[in-house]
Amino acid sequence: MNALSWSTRLLMKRQWKRLFLSTSNPCLSRRKCEKRVVKVRFSDILGQEKAQRFLRQVMVREKMPHAYLFTGIPGVGKRSTAQALAMALNCLSPQDGDACGLCGSCRKILGGNAPDFHVIRPGSNKIGIDQIREVNHGLSFAPLSAQYRVLVICQAEAMTPEAANAFLKTLEEPSPGNIFVLTATEPLDLLPTIVSRCQKVSFQPLPRGVVANWISEKKGVSQKEADIVAGLSGGSIGRALEMAENEFLENRERWLERIAELPGFPRTEAQGVAFKWAEEIKAGGTSGAQGSSLGPAAVLDIWKSWYRDLLLARAKMGEHSFMNRDFSQSLKKMSMGFKIKNLAKSFFLIDRAAMDLMENRNSALVFEHLVLELRALAGRL
Ligand SMILES: [Zn+2]
Repeated sequence: MNALSWSTRLLMKRQWKRLFLSTSNPCLSRRKCEKRVVKVRFSDILGQEKAQRFLRQVMVREKMPHAYLFTGIPGVGKRSTAQALAMALNCLSPQDGDACGLCGSCRKILGGNAPDFHVIRPGSNKIGIDQIREVNHGLSFAPLSAQYRVLVICQAEAMTPEAANAFLKTLEEPSPGNIFVLTATEPLDLLPTIVSRCQKVSFQPLPRGVVANWISEKKGVSQKEADIVAGLSGGSIGRALEMAENEFLENRERWLERIAELPGFPRTEAQGVAFKWAEEIKAGGTSGAQGSSLGPAAVLDIWKSWYRDLLLARAKMGEHSFMNRDFSQSLKKMSMGFKIKNLAKSFFLIDRAAMDLMENRNSALVFEHLVLELRALAGRL
């Protein structure tokens, strides 16, 4: 297989994975997700039983791996599990492979003042060589007070090539007593030489019902609203929380109604509508002053969920698979006016627009073009 066909296949695999697993763009919200949800012990982490079971087993091995790569979408408990691992490894009174949460070691980690537990996060979306050099310097000494020093690198894919190569040297010649945990959405975005030196632990998106029940119970929102945000979260507690805590649901409904009306606009009016929406989204993304508190990326996520559901409805997949179950009847009715291939094209056009935004293209122009293209596809029966 040549390099071109390999990369093309990889791109297609990623696109289809995005279509069926989640509409959320991890790069846009992952920092919020990971910082918002901080849990403590293995037993406090929602789901991820397989990952927890595996980690509890390796902790009792005589020769425990020194490096781990936690992979999965943002907001499913990777960083929290790294903390739980650090606590369990150093707990003075562990119970069934889990930390007690009460001893001196546990309290230090929970209080954020443990000298042997470090978390590195990207600054300005990058983890630079200086951050890794500082880490490497600290690792050359034995742990200060704990049995194991645990270093967590969040969003390890954000390491610059120089930083990744510097960290690779540390992984190749680890000092005793140091445990490394890297978190990443997708291992393919990391240096293969780093991945091969880590024990991989996969974190799965949480089931919709689990997320909905948790959000409903902890945040006091209705079961119906909890089910909607759980469906849109793609299995991420962090993202579901983000959506449940502001006026997301009202805004979502407004933007869904608009995209649903788009096929009915005469071609001559589409240009004016595209311009108006683009201006509103632009204003909402910067100040929220004109009625839209959602930024461009959030609106695109909502539209992606809509076209994903239309595609599933057209393929007669059943409403249990819809993200927007509260619009089930409209989705089923509308889907009959589209060809499957045009729905798939529409989804990928929105995905492309989201990538354009990440590359800092002019958001108003991106939206204007997108609306016109979606309108054109909707008209081709
Ligand atoms: Zn303890």
